[in-house]
Amino acid sequence: MRAYKFRIYPSKKQEELLNKHLWLAKNLWNELLEECKQLYEDFGYFPTKNTLQLIVKNYGLYSQTQQEIAHRVHNAVLRVFKLRKKGVKCGFPRFKSIERMKSLHYPQYGTGFWLDKKFKVTPFDEIAIKKHRELKGRIKTLTLKKESSGKWFAIFTAEEEKQLPKENKGEAIGIDLGLKTFATLSNSLKISNPRHFKRYEERLAFIQRKFSKKKKRSYQRKRAKIRVAKLHEKISDCRRDFLHKISTDLVNIYSLVALEKLASKEMSEENYGKQINDAGWNMFANMLAYKAEGAGCMVVFVNPENTTKECSNCGAIVEKTLQDRIHNCPCCGLIVDRDLNAARVILTRATGGHPESNACDSLLERDVAEATSMKQEALTYS
Ligand SMILES: [Zn+2]
Repeated sequence: MRAYKFRIYPSKKQEELLNKHLWLAKNLWNELLEECKQLYEDFGYFPTKNTLQLIVKNYGLYSQTQQEIAHRVHNAVLRVFKLRKKGVKCGFPRFKSIERMKSLHYPQYGTGFWLDKKFKVTPFDEIAIKKHRELKGRIKTLTLKKESSGKWFAIFTAEEEKQLPKENKGEAIGIDLGLKTFATLSNSLKISNPRHFKRYEERLAFIQRKFSKKKKRSYQRKRAKIRVAKLHEKISDCRRDFLHKISTDLVNIYSLVALEKLASKEMSEENYGKQINDAGWNMFANMLAYKAEGAGCMVVFVNPENTTKECSNCGAIVEKTLQDRIHNCPCCGLIVDRDLNAARVILTRATGGHPESNACDSLLERDVAEATSMKQEALTYS
């Protein structure tokens, strides 16, 4: 929501009427307040919103404007009531003098006021306005306000329209996620885990050992348990921060990000020669998916089968163990870092065989649909 304040120039007649309405608004405010006070003193409760609405009927102000005053009085009284219940000392809402009643409120655009080339307000009709800047978005409410100087203003609140997704002209990349190196990108970039992770994890192992040695049900054990839990929390906070930072950077820099679909059970070391932290992977994939749209980036999940073994150059399957860090293809002679090879295979799968193309084929569309459903999951994730 944004507010726009424009100077208005009511005619003499309009100004008289505006002032009369302020006067009525002030009287209404005071009358409603008096009613609340009376009822509370006599019977010990406040009138409901409905009772107040009955009083405001045909008061002479614009219908929604007078209803809004009833709302305001009701809320103000209720607030005092709640505070007093809590034991907070506070005064009853104040009666207003005409100096303190400065504005008339119109809560709904299209009923009571309009603004296009002309500015019209019921019952004042067309009022001259100086729109010194462009009003963006959809107008919601209007407040007519008289400043102490005597000048009148129209204050609009407007809801800004959703920004269209930015166009991202960056390159397309494939990402291979791992444990030792957090991520290897198909353009040879490597993202390593923050250094302090290792230190934290060593410390965690250490205090966990200490914890397990403590006597059961002892005070020391209880304390050690808290220490372990606190460190756990710290580590997962750090990890989340790290994943947020990386995912934001990736969707802002690249137009397409491809990564493996995690099929958690099959995704074991024997099958694909991978070591991946499941929880971290899911969190990261969710973050990428829900940040992508707003950044004009597309996230694609590809079949993870044999991404480590396949040659990114000729497609041959080259067997490897976890210890083999280099992809050495006997067919085409390609020698390259094992994770970089995998990242390139992932990118090729996402772009349908053309590493540089962003064209959608049917597989890609399906994966995008999947990414969208993941995005919804991500929204519920906190
Ligand atoms: Zn090859």
